[in-house]
Amino acid sequence: MAVEIAVTGANGRMGREVLGIAVDRQAVEVAFAVNRSPVDEPIAGVEIESADRFEDLLAARSPDAVVDFTGPASSTAYAAHCADHSVAFVTGTTGFDEADQTALADASEQTALLHATNFSRGIAALRRAVTQAVEALPGYDIEVTETHHNGKRDAPSGTANTLIDDIEGVRTDIDDRVHGRVGEAPRSSGEIGVHARRAGDIAGEHEVLLAGNNETVSLCHRAGDRSIFAIGAIDAAEWLAEQPPGRYDFFDVIDDT
Ligand code: NAD
Repeated sequence: MAVEIAVTGANGRMGREVLGIAVDRQAVEVAFAVNRSPVDEPIAGVEIESADRFEDLLAARSPDAVVDFTGPASSTAYAAHCADHSVAFVTGTTGFDEADQTALADASEQTALLHATNFSRGIAALRRAVTQAVEALPGYDIEVTETHHNGKRDAPSGTANTLIDDIEGVRTDIDDRVHGRVGEAPRSSGEIGVHARRAGDIAGEHEVLLAGNNETVSLCHRAGDRSIFAIGAIDAAEWLAEQPPGRYDFFDVIDDT
């Protein structure tokens, strides 16, 4: 039986990509799709409904999972609706603050909820490689650089923050995130440099640079286009639809499929 998904932010860069991939996937059906502002033309053959109707549509169509790429305020509201209706919720939205994270945690007590700052399997592999390299190279200076399209709202990217969280999990001597440098700014050993570039229509690039002892290691990932994120999010929705209430991440999907 096909997994029925609903899509939010349907007219966004990621929403359009998710719809395009979902309609081509045999094991998935699109129950409905919503967008905040009106969309006159169907996207990938799917009529786009008003976001105001989300909860009514959720109750009427009972999808197995919602796939959400919008913004923190809307994602937490959608998560709460999904919790009320016991619908699995997959979100790739970035830029959540602590209160938003608490709201997601609350929702995950009632339904299966998966948040990932990046749905690329390549980035999942990069995260594991970075952790290994940081463990193997104690004391090395580390700088993280990310590049995205000129319409991205949050900086640094959610993926860069996730990579830094991973690095700080190993390197307890690093406690200072320095966002760019200007003027006299000598480097201290406890800092990690973070650099966000915004240009053109770049889907996403991340580099972790480790330097010390007359050598450098550079681990990087480039997304060719946004389809990899949509494919990963739909993989996650198919998997999450079968899971009991709780909080999950993309490694749970990768390690189980
Ligand atoms: P975008 O601005 O192109 O699209 C956002 C869409 O959400 C827009 O269509 C907007 O109208 C809609 N929207 C906003 N509030 C809404 C609401 N309350 N109800 C319904 N629709 C609403 O942005 P994007 O590039 O598609 O990115 C969206 C989010 O996904 C960002 O947080 C971005 O960082 C993140 N993202 C995550 C991944 C990942 O793999 N996790 C990949 C790419 C982007």
